[in-house]
Amino acid sequence: MQVKLIVGDMSDHPLLDNFFSTHNRAAVMHFVAYIAVGESVTYPAKYYRNNVVGTLTLLEAMLGASINKLIFSSTCALYGVPEFIPLTEDHPQNPISRYATSKWMVEGILDDFDIAYNLKSVSFHYFNAAGADPNGLLGEDHIPETHLIPLVLLAALGKSESIFIFGTDYPTPDGTCIPDYIHVNDLAQAHILGLQYLLNRGESEVFNLGNGNSFSVRQVIETAQEVTGKDIQIIERDRRPGDPPILVGSSDKVGTKLGWNPQYPHLHKIITHGWQWHQKRHGHI
Ligand code: UDP
Repeated sequence: MQVKLIVGDMSDHPLLDNFFSTHNRAAVMHFVAYIAVGESVTYPAKYYRNNVVGTLTLLEAMLGASINKLIFSSTCALYGVPEFIPLTEDHPQNPISRYATSKWMVEGILDDFDIAYNLKSVSFHYFNAAGADPNGLLGEDHIPETHLIPLVLLAALGKSESIFIFGTDYPTPDGTCIPDYIHVNDLAQAHILGLQYLLNRGESEVFNLGNGNSFSVRQVIETAQEVTGKDIQIIERDRRPGDPPILVGSSDKVGTKLGWNPQYPHLHKIITHGWQWHQKRHGHI
């Protein structure tokens, strides 16, 4: 399928007006945001301006063009430290970082826009998105890289000497954090289902997108050693502020309501696909 790529800023109202007026558009999928938790605490204005004010501009441009359906990529970080697991959508919301607050604010705006302007939205609370498209063509490449799985794979490729484990004294079986990793293709599939749901006149909803199978930081590193066949040197460090010891999401609601059924729930596959992509990206295959 041929698609046109227009590079621009979400806060550029005239550009959005022009874009929306040139074609008939049924819905918008909105993925734009700054996402670094630590940075959001140091520079909150940057996060509120881009993630919140920018989204407001986008929503107003959509309304101006009579587009009233939106898929919004949100985060499980808005729940804060879990009071119970698995986390369901009715878990209390208590964002710790300003990144999480910015997503929480947008969800509040979406509630108001539904009531006032009939704008229908599906917000997905992502857990830890990981892996890559199985064909090895699409994967994650952040500058700077801060996420565990790509960092481990870069170490396996010899791009760094070692990998840090942030905290080994958590109240978990092996002392390291246990995040909930979800394969990016499963994540993408949920967006297609969410879009179909809205196009079929679905009401606004929020859905968790997690795996339900959680893996500790040590398990991730061990699995990466298995997949890559490389020894990865580990350095144990203090805890990273803001990391909950264990994060397990319940995705029952998205399964029941949208028929979502993840294809790659196993860590081995998630890391294998990430590894294929990283090797291609760095010219190793
Ligand atoms: N982590 C780690 N070393 C790293 C990067 C991350 O031990 O170099 C841990 C981190 O403390 C957290 C987990 O891995 O418990 C997942 O972190 P990541 O940054 O991959 O995902 P995030 O939670 O930021 O989305």
